[in-house]
Amino acid sequence: MQPFYLKIAIDTPLNRLFDYLPLAQTNRDKYAPGQRVLTSFGRSQKTGVIVSISDSSELKPSQLKPIQTLLDDEPLVSSQDIKLLSWAAEYYHQAIGGVFAQALPKQLRGGALPKEQFETRYSLTSLGQHLDDARLQRAPRQASIQKLLLEQTQPVSSAVFASLDWPWQATLKTMVSNGWVELSQANVDDERIVVEADFEPNQAQQDAIDTVAGSLEGFTAYLLDGVTGSGKTEVYLQLIQRVLALGKQVMVMLPEINLTPQLADRFRRRLAARMVVYHSGLTDSQRSQAWLKCRSGTANILLGTRSSVFTPMQHLGMIILDEEHDGSFKQQEGFRYSARDVAIMRARELDIPILLGSATPSLECLYNVQQKRFSHLVLPERTGHSIKPSIHLIDCRNKKTEHQLSKPLLKAVDDCLKRDEQVILFVNRRGFAPVLMCHCCGWVAQCEHCDSRLVTHQRQSQLKCHHCGAEHAKPRICPRCQQAELFALGSGTERIEDALTELYPNTPISRIDRDTTKGKDAMQLVIDKVHQGGAQLLVGTQMLAKGHHFPNVTLVGIIDVDAGLFSIDFRASERMAQLIVQVAGRAGRESKPGKVLIQTHQPEHPLLQTLIKKDYAAFSQDALQERQQAQLPPYYYQALLRVNATDERAVLDFLQQLKPHLNAIAMPQVSVLGPVPSPMLKRAGRYRYQLLFESAERKSRHYFLRQLLPRIDQIKAARKIRWSIDIDPIDLY
Ligand code: ADP
Ligand code: ZN
Ligand code: ZN
Repeated sequence: MQPFYLKIAIDTPLNRLFDYLPLAQTNRDKYAPGQRVLTSFGRSQKTGVIVSISDSSELKPSQLKPIQTLLDDEPLVSSQDIKLLSWAAEYYHQAIGGVFAQALPKQLRGGALPKEQFETRYSLTSLGQHLDDARLQRAPRQASIQKLLLEQTQPVSSAVFASLDWPWQATLKTMVSNGWVELSQANVDDERIVVEADFEPNQAQQDAIDTVAGSLEGFTAYLLDGVTGSGKTEVYLQLIQRVLALGKQVMVMLPEINLTPQLADRFRRRLAARMVVYHSGLTDSQRSQAWLKCRSGTANILLGTRSSVFTPMQHLGMIILDEEHDGSFKQQEGFRYSARDVAIMRARELDIPILLGSATPSLECLYNVQQKRFSHLVLPERTGHSIKPSIHLIDCRNKKTEHQLSKPLLKAVDDCLKRDEQVILFVNRRGFAPVLMCHCCGWVAQCEHCDSRLVTHQRQSQLKCHHCGAEHAKPRICPRCQQAELFALGSGTERIEDALTELYPNTPISRIDRDTTKGKDAMQLVIDKVHQGGAQLLVGTQMLAKGHHFPNVTLVGIIDVDAGLFSIDFRASERMAQLIVQVAGRAGRESKPGKVLIQTHQPEHPLLQTLIKKDYAAFSQDALQERQQAQLPPYYYQALLRVNATDERAVLDFLQQLKPHLNAIAMPQVSVLGPVPSPMLKRAGRYRYQLLFESAERKSRHYFLRQLLPRIDQIKAARKIRWSIDIDPIDLY
């Protein structure tokens, strides 16, 4: 028998596949790429995925061990997905084993059987619906169960019995065996009652739908560029219906599902689909179940966040990525990838359309449109009766403000509340105040682990570091001079909330930031409250900017934009413009006109001027030109090497030893900037430095890193530091 070797992806820091022998006395046809195996690795046991089967190995047979167990008879990972994951490992210069591990839910990574589970659902049989009263009177427990089930319009899970405070299981069992209650198996989250839209798509929507629907067979990347409230979701829904009608699946990716429960509901109401959601809030078992149901085709719609981009899909027919510009599509630690870019690659490999939607497209996407690589679909107007909100600046120079609230802003808030309408006030910082200072000696509360100040959180009477998570009780007296003269400087959401409570004691106020939306349903509760209508105040961070549809909000105030205008990050202005336009987009979404007020000390700033006099499109055209002149992305391709250690010396030694390697592989197509300390040198107790690589060609950047990265492991000082490579970094911190 011809010998053969299994090339296996195993989750280790080493960027290579590992060769193993098959089990003794087994044939080659027992093995296929995509199966999981158990292997002994060093002194431990690890699961891995067979990536390929080869006739040769660089190692001698005596150096090779057989695998321990073959876990799957059939491949768990399809050959298409193996191709995608291998591409991602290569493009992002990541260890391939880690990339495969990331693509599998934890339970499957651990070797669990890939078995779909179906939940049992209960409903009354017709016999059970018409039990006679006399009989039920003698059996009050059966009567309670019957009553509960009579209230349901469709089969329900056993969760419905949770309200019963006696052991209902036995009673239910009797009712089942009497033929009164029947069991069925729930598929996925499938709602059968579908509500049609009560409007026709407008011309722009129809054009977009027709264009995409006309080319469902084949790869095209579309940028659906539609102002907030222009009905992008409606375009998605109609296209999804068409793809489902072809018997194919659709993957819909969103920045954060927990923050936009409304959207998932809208999908459920409108689509007769077998939908699953996939996000970090699920339990391990829910995750692997969702994954398996997409893989088998049991589910035909996947609604997921970043990490769902690798979910296997039996017959994927289209990918939709909403809020394409959102930074949360980029994974910022470990395997640093852009789910948007991976999704585009996936669509290209599968030869299917991908739809990227945004009211504030990223400069990357707009550049691709310019280059004719993406097709541009525009929805220029808001739907129905709603019109674009008007945007005004409030010049705060030399004006008195109360807790950062200026007179004109407060006047507008008054007017709005008097009309029984709602107000959103946007503050870009959570907590009470960003600085705690001593009036006597000037002491400032600093994080001991980071180069940053501690933020006062008044509600919990704590000081917190927003960078490393450190928490301390808020001191009563100054730790340096012992005087009780500490004061909080600046305002965050808590402080603005307090100020508003004082000013408007009779108006309901909701605060929305990471501190108030921790609980699973916290966001939903706020949304429900807002939808009850009436005058209300909403204070919050950028969470408020994300996709919410609050019909009665007619005023949006942006308390402080100035900090964002002076960042050292070249992407800051793009982010600021997106944020302003997105927050502004929450105003006047139905028949009532909306107004946006921006407080600033920089009323002449070109970014603000362009946004209020023109629009986001004008801003982005200017910004693209600037990027081109400055040789920055999307015209240039970057990669960032981050190096850190608890001992600063170790980092500096490493960088010193890296130098000759950089010289050895230097090439004119790639410029090397740095090393320099990161903008925040010390964070979470580690000293951080970075090197930026830049090239006009992706290929050169790739080639350069292929030379560089293997050399790092040979550097002696590398053992004392941690390093990571970030391809197409979106922030340089
Ligand atoms: P976007 O996703 O672009 O912000 P949405 O799809 O959420 O916009 O649409 C905003 C509102 O307009 C929703 O309430 C939606 O039901 C409604 N809508 C969408 N299309 C139309 C239309 N053609 N006519 C009237 N209302 C529409
Ligand atoms: Zn002091
Ligand atoms: Zn810290």
